[in-house]
This record gives sequence, structure tokens and C-alpha cells, in this order.
Amino acid sequence: PPDVEALGRSTWTLLHTIAANYPKSPNYKEQSDLKTFMGLFSRLYPCWVCAEDFQKYMEKEQIRVDSRNEFGTWLCEAHNAVNTKLGKPVFDCSKWEERWRTGWKD
Ligand code: FAD
Repeated sequence: PPDVEALGRSTWTLLHTIAANYPKSPNYKEQSDLKTFMGLFSRLYPCWVCAEDFQKYMEKEQIRVDSRNEFGTWLCEAHNAVNTKLGKPVFDCSKWEERWRTGWKD
């Protein structure tokens, strides 16, 4: 079975990096691609308990793909829901872009 921690760290890096490079004003195709990607991601993520909870989260909290900041913030909130579940500190979502686009030392 996959290492759930290492898989999680790499996956959050990929997802937040996608958000950081998503257009500020995405066109219809870009928005629909991101929705499709996230929907499939939530079904294919190879940590099945994680995937099940993430699908439930996506049903409750409709994905926001209208702009880079909308998606980046939605994703940050989704990551925070997992942080809370695991007893990890909550991340300040006003800083998501600083962390994942501009970059800081981790
Ligand atoms: P991570 O949570 O992996 O975070 C990596 C870095 O992201 C942090 O160092 C920090 O700089 C930054 N960061 C932290 N919070 C945020 C945020 N809210 N927004 C932006 N940046 C942030 N593990 C389980 O045991 N059970 C689960 O059910 C589970 N579900 C998961 C669901 C998904 C969709 C994913 C991608 C991962 C899931 N994981 C789950 C893995 C878990 O979230 C962590 O990745 C793993 O525990 C390693 O944690 P970490 O402390 O290294 O930091």
C-alpha cells in the first residue's frame, strides 16, 4: 500500500501548484477541465479512506473554479478540513499564494 503521508505531501504540492498556475480569468474550457480533473482525482486518489472523505467534502463544499484565487482558497479550505481531521494546525488561507506561488522556505 502507498505511504499515505509521503503521497499526501506530494499530492498537496501538485494540487496547490496547479492552483498557483491556474489563470486569474479562466475561460469556460479551463474551468470545466479543472472541475473534471478534481472530480476524477477524488475518485482515483490511491488512499481509499482519504478519497472517500474528500468526495464527501466535494459534495458539501462545491468546488470554486471562477479564478485562481477562488480555486486556491477553496483548495486551502479543503486541505484545512483534512488538517483538522488529522489534528494538524489550520493554515491561514490568506497566505496560500504566498506559500505556493511566490514561495517561502518550508
Ligand atoms: P501536508 O498536510 O501534506 O501539507 C504540506 C504543506 O502544505 C505543509 O507543510 C504546509 O506548508 C502546506 N499547507 C498546510 N495546510 C495547507 C493549506 N490548508 N493550504 C495550503 N497549504 C497548506 N491523510 C490521512 O491520514 N487521512 C486522510 O483521510 C487523508 N486525506 C487526504 C486527502 C487528500 C485529498 C490529500 C491530498 C491528502 C490526504 N491525507 C490524509 C494526507 C495528509 O493530508 C498529509 O498530506 C500527510 O499527513 C502529511 O502531512 P504533512 O504534515 O507533511 O503536511
